Amino acid sequence: MGTALDSPEVQLAEVLDRLHEEYPDTTISLRFSNRLELLIAVILSAQCTDERVNKVTADLFEKYDGPKAYAEADQEELAEDLNSITYYNNKAEYIRNACQKIVEEHDGEVPDTMADLTDLPGVGRKTANVVLQHGHDIVEGVVVDTHVQRLTRRLGITEAERPEQIEPELMELAPESEWQKLTHLFISHGREVCTARNPDCEDCLLADICPSSKTDSDVDLASGEPWE
Ligand code: SF4
Repeated sequence: MGTALDSPEVQLAEVLDRLHEEYPDTTISLRFSNRLELLIAVILSAQCTDERVNKVTADLFEKYDGPKAYAEADQEELAEDLNSITYYNNKAEYIRNACQKIVEEHDGEVPDTMADLTDLPGVGRKTANVVLQHGHDIVEGVVVDTHVQRLTRRLGITEAERPEQIEPELMELAPESEWQKLTHLFISHGREVCTARNPDCEDCLLADICPSSKTDSDVDLASGEPWE
């Protein structure tokens, strides 16, 4: 039986306990060796897989060696370097403009506050949270990506639909010490078991507390639609 525990707080705590056991070493899967590379990788990862981003950045980070190099890059050439990434034209422009701002207003350093980061072109709260957490060791919020959004809804932890609504709810429900790891735990489970199209509920370690489990629910609470 997939039945959520008594409250979203208790449900989330139990889910996290089990996911910690299952994925003890989970962490960010984007490859980077400094804050600027992290920022660029996260900008590129919007609506694109980390795997593809890592393939592209392996060459990109060799070719461009700092914010000035991106700021002065030719738009068409940079876009060409990114052409296997979704929305590569827009992302090339974001990266050039963000790096111009980093050079002109931040002495070539990636800023370390939410306000300064979200002031950079192409950087929203999600990207800023990742850069703060993994680049500066500052945890100010919870990164809500598509996996976190889908799993928290399927598991009955939230009924909110948009990441901007889900993030403050998770910050209320989970202790601050869990804010960073929570994202990676949900991403691991979302990639390996609770996939968007065909989750493996039969083999899921959360099935007994998941109100969406296909083993006894007709509805995917993430979409609100019947399972296909
Ligand atoms: S795989 Fe199925 S049972 Fe497991 S969390 Fe996802 S929807 Fe729930």
